[in-house]
Amino acid sequence: MPFEPPRSLSPSKVSSFRSCALAFRFTAIERLPDPATVATVKGTLVHSALEGLFWNHPQGRRSPVAAASELDAAWTALQADLDFLSLDLTPDEAGAMRADAEQLVANYFVLEDPNEVTPVGIELTLEARLGDVRFRGILDRLDRTPDGELVVIDYKTGRAPPPAYEQARLTGVQLYALLCQEVLGRRPVQAKLLHLKEPTVITAEPSEQGLKGQRTKTMAVWTAIERACRDEDFRPNTGPLCRFCRFQEFCPAYGGDPSLAAAAFATSGQGAA
Ligand code: SF4
Repeated sequence: MPFEPPRSLSPSKVSSFRSCALAFRFTAIERLPDPATVATVKGTLVHSALEGLFWNHPQGRRSPVAAASELDAAWTALQADLDFLSLDLTPDEAGAMRADAEQLVANYFVLEDPNEVTPVGIELTLEARLGDVRFRGILDRLDRTPDGELVVIDYKTGRAPPPAYEQARLTGVQLYALLCQEVLGRRPVQAKLLHLKEPTVITAEPSEQGLKGQRTKTMAVWTAIERACRDEDFRPNTGPLCRFCRFQEFCPAYGGDPSLAAAAFATSGQGAA
């Protein structure tokens, strides 16, 4: 029986399908569970702290001390979070996670002065219609410059990519810029990735032509997804990310059978989310 296409597309789904259609099938179509990791939970923690810094502290009062108090509050809330609890960390491991998060939040202040920033949206959900597809995404932050222009901000808590992969990383943030243009009718002048670990900023300046290209490519990805669902044909695309792929044993490129994945995850007690 053909697969049902997802109800909507997001920048991360576009990137997932482009990098490996089969892995996309497992996550976005069959919705096999994606267990929490230290990296994902730490990312959520840092995002919460920075979100609180902007929500709860007016311009002029967004200091490292204020950010540390937001991290404290987010850490307290995390203690009852199911993803955090599922990691089953020892006190030392939990302490290391907390220390890493503190460093990432401190590094944020190396990249910009939050008192000079005017956000017009934080954790902002935008949804647009591109042809037949509902295209939606959540922006970490949308800023307005003193000239009234828009800037898209995306926080990253993992390592910055080597220069050869920067362009691929910027595609995601360009898609957020496309969403802004579609929903708000304004093309952001910049889209920035704030890599908190290094710390470093990677900036793109979306052009009219560039966003037009992203729109065309996104609609082409949707057509390819619909076709793959109809034909039940999601091909593996091997690459460096296979090392981290939790579906490798079900991947034909590694001698596996994709049709066994859903049942295997169900019997392991990790039913589809
Ligand atoms: S192992 Fe590699 S090729 Fe196979 S599904 Fe995972 S990412 Fe795709």
